[in-house]
Amino acid sequence: MMAGGASSGAVLVERRGGDPAGGPGGGERPGPAGGGTAYEVVIIGAGPAGYTAGVYCSRARRRTLILSGLLPGGQLVNTTEVENYPGFPKAVMGPDLMADMREQAKNSGASIVDEEAVNVDLRRRPFKVLTASEEYEADAVIIATGASPRKLGLDGEEALAGKGVSYCATCDGPFFRGAELAVVGGGDSAMEEATFLTKFASAVHVVHRRDELRASRVMQERARGNAKIRMHMSCEVKEIRGGGRVESVTLRSSRTGEESELRVGGVFVAIGHDPNTAMLGGQVETDGDGYVALRNGTAMTSVEGVFAAGDVHDRHYKQAVTAAGYGCMAALEADRHLTERRQKGA
Ligand code: NAP
Repeated sequence: MMAGGASSGAVLVERRGGDPAGGPGGGERPGPAGGGTAYEVVIIGAGPAGYTAGVYCSRARRRTLILSGLLPGGQLVNTTEVENYPGFPKAVMGPDLMADMREQAKNSGASIVDEEAVNVDLRRRPFKVLTASEEYEADAVIIATGASPRKLGLDGEEALAGKGVSYCATCDGPFFRGAELAVVGGGDSAMEEATFLTKFASAVHVVHRRDELRASRVMQERARGNAKIRMHMSCEVKEIRGGGRVESVTLRSSRTGEESELRVGGVFVAIGHDPNTAMLGGQVETDGDGYVALRNGTAMTSVEGVFAAGDVHDRHYKQAVTAAGYGCMAALEADRHLTERRQKGA
């Protein structure tokens, strides 16, 4: 059902200091107290960036909604142990970390709805964020929808994800001490991941589909100069094999069609990411690869009042802790934006 009441009655008012959605501990309601679907801040996405933004907005007493999407918790719910998130000297399980972040956002006062935003209208105020069943209004929007690692599309890849198939060397590399590993891709990420993995692996096989790497010269040189790295050029991974865990990959030469078996304990797929921006419908400026473009050093997008946080704009770091930091920035800026609008009488 579309929220006709909210659409007709929503007025931009300064709600700071008022009762946020249900007050602290009152999250998970479909709308703010008193019904309706108008919020001061709607956060799209519930990874580290979205939940952190939720904590900060709610603590600033902003009426805040987090639309968690279909994978509440984001990419970390698909990982096992996380050893590089500060504050957990004995590591933490990815799903547990995200459950705690969600609980913290709720306890701070954010409403959380487990629906996916499928469309937005950012051309006029109040902004609108649509799910399959509801239309929410927002005075400010924080886009925290993340980016999805590209997949090879092989059967074994899905079956062995988290069992030797990984999309993040920084996250999972230390679990492969002494193993032989494959890294798929020929860009900067593949070179960086391969080089990083040599800290743990006995050997790293870079598998690239063309006879020329895409990576920058300096990254190529670093990888090629590393005695533990071996390049398999003009090769595609045809199959990832293993019982309970990755045991080998089948390579196929794209020049000769010849197939060979490479025994490895893990496969790191580094063939790029796709930022999750399709539902923005081109209303926010993005770069050539679809990452949300931000105004220098801020979380502001090309649309005033719309902010972005995390992997949806960050092509370089892509870490849970950096995403959380960006979520904090976006929330602080959204809060300041709302205060300034009120001061201007908007
Ligand atoms: P990328 O530059 O798009 O490279 C992706 C690589 O994966 C390419 O070599 C591509 O092959 C290959 N690939 C794509 N789809 C494939 C498929 N289905 N099967 C097999 N191979 C496939 O992505 P990236 O390496 O993640 O880098 C993204 C951006 O971040 C770049 O601008 C990069 O410079 C930047 N970055 C910078 C650093 C750094 O400076 N430290 C580190 C990481 C990333 P083709 O070459 O044949 O297309």
